[in-house]
Amino acid sequence: MRNFNMTALLALCAQLCLGQAQNKALSIPDLDDYKTLKCDFHMHTVFSDGLVWPTVRVDEAYAEGLDAISLTEHIEYHPHKEDIKADHNRSYDLIRQYAADKGIILIKGSEITRNMAPGHHNAIFLQDSNPLEATDYMDAFKAAKSQGAFIFWNHPGWEAQQPEETRWWEVHTQLYEGGYMQGIEVANGRSYFPEAQQWCMDKKLTMIGTSDIHQPIQTDIDFSKGERTAVPPYHHGTFGRTGGKRRD
Ligand SMILES: [Zn+2]
Ligand SMILES: [Zn+2]
Repeated sequence: MRNFNMTALLALCAQLCLGQAQNKALSIPDLDDYKTLKCDFHMHTVFSDGLVWPTVRVDEAYAEGLDAISLTEHIEYHPHKEDIKADHNRSYDLIRQYAADKGIILIKGSEITRNMAPGHHNAIFLQDSNPLEATDYMDAFKAAKSQGAFIFWNHPGWEAQQPEETRWWEVHTQLYEGGYMQGIEVANGRSYFPEAQQWCMDKKLTMIGTSDIHQPIQTDIDFSKGERTAVPPYHHGTFGRTGGKRRD
């Protein structure tokens, strides 16, 4: 009995010493000549309207075995601004080293937040998020594009913006034809948008799946029930995870 307890204690100690255990259960095969990465390019922290400190997103990603993440704070919506005063790069800067230490690829991103149309878009692979703060949304898109960003339309069928139908607007044609749209969220949180999947196939845009997580991940996902921020089978573009309930 004493030996058993010692073994259990050592196991606990090893886990504590190594930090959070990593879940390797989410296995997606590599394709010919390509390495598959599991990514989530839509997340929020207290630096916009999320409810966690940025390091928590790294811990969550590590625990789930994700390879790459992007904190995509709203440029225009900062409900905690009385308590958190920082520029648009700050949440990224805070976890740069922490993510590297955990082996998580960190990509700088931001959410360009407007009413429909054009709605919400994420720009990732940014160099500097601050120039995206602009009155005219086209100036924000231009600032992102000038940095070589990859831009995708978020939650196109979000009921708060498109309650009747998931509609493609004229402005989306302009964004698409102008090179300001490279992908669309086919899955956001628990929502799936079949119209977006068809648009992606028709226009050769990347299908994206994201969590759009605002709370601590375990608030939205019950891991004890086997739920996970899983990769839906309909993705064959950028892989992501799903799970959040809120989208904004
Ligand atoms: Zn949004
Ligand atoms: Zn969002």
